[in-house]
Amino acid sequence: MLPAVPKPVVQLFSSRYIAGPTLDDAVRVVRKLNAEGMAATIDVLGEEIAHADEARAIARTYLDVFETVERERLDANVSVKLTALGLKLSYDLCKENVLTVLARGRFVRIDMEDATTTDDTLRLYRELRLEGHDGVGIVLQAYLRRSVDDVHALADLEPNVRLCKGIYVEPPSLAYTDADSIRASFVQCLDALLATGAYVAAGTHDEALIREALARDVPEFQMLLGVREDRACELVAAGHRLRVYVPFGEQWYAYSLRRLQENPAMATTIARATIGRALRF
Ligand SMILES: Cc1cc2nc3c(=O)[nH]c(=O)nc-3n(C[C@H](O)[C@H](O)[C@H](O)COP(=O)(O)OP(=O)(O)OC[C@H]3O[C@@H](n4cnc5c(N)ncnc54)[C@H](O)[C@@H]3O)c2cc1C
Repeated sequence: MLPAVPKPVVQLFSSRYIAGPTLDDAVRVVRKLNAEGMAATIDVLGEEIAHADEARAIARTYLDVFETVERERLDANVSVKLTALGLKLSYDLCKENVLTVLARGRFVRIDMEDATTTDDTLRLYRELRLEGHDGVGIVLQAYLRRSVDDVHALADLEPNVRLCKGIYVEPPSLAYTDADSIRASFVQCLDALLATGAYVAAGTHDEALIREALARDVPEFQMLLGVREDRACELVAAGHRLRVYVPFGEQWYAYSLRRLQENPAMATTIARATIGRALRF
């Protein structure tokens, strides 16, 4: 029912997940995280773009992000979504934009989106690495049945991988849909990645999976802004490297829906707020 929820209600409940509309907002949030001993990965929101010019503008915004990160001496890299850089318009346009972002020579993580983009995302990652761009990382989603095979297919590249459960709605033919199978796949992918010598960041707030990652001594944990902040502080206090995903920008809607979708406590609250609002009209 989330897409039926009025946008102002979505914005109200999702504001904790987003730094704000501007780069200054992201800088303020990252500075605070850095002061607490956490690194960041900055995401320019923009997956709702429809024109090549918008995709190029997002790429240019990433250059502004790098310039600011360097000037402010922030401990932050960036995450990009290929759809925001034009993947749905043209693969070549998207690659050109990714190369623009990579030209700055700083680490770039390519997020993984819905299953219609998986092949193109992995293809682009492989091309970039074979062309000598080593400062680029990828994401694998444990809910996809193919992911363990993808781990093996990527092994020759010794990839830098963020492993997460996956958030897009996929059919059972492509993805595990029950919590236990997704967890089991996460652990299987984690073991396979570590065995192939990949650098792994565990992108999860699930206590059971955090413990599995701790038991395997993963080099990095990643969490989303606004989620399980106390647990993030505990991990940092225990000496673990932790990176927080910090999105900013005007195009907050699609990202916000996904965050609300995975927050069970929020569903009832939003339903009440929406119905209350409807009754007032
Ligand atoms: C750094 C990072 C990057 C990511 N990148 C991608 C990506 O590129 N592609 C992709 O498909 N997915 C991505 N995800 C999302 C991921 O796939 C999951 O959807 C998300 O992390 C929730 O799964 P979980 O492992 O935290 O477990 P869950 O079982 O969903 O959550 C465990 C617990 O964490 C808390 N929690 C989780 N989410 C929320 C929330 N939104 N609000 C409040 N509490 C919450 C709850 O207490 C919940 O019980 C990313 C996640 C992280 C942390």
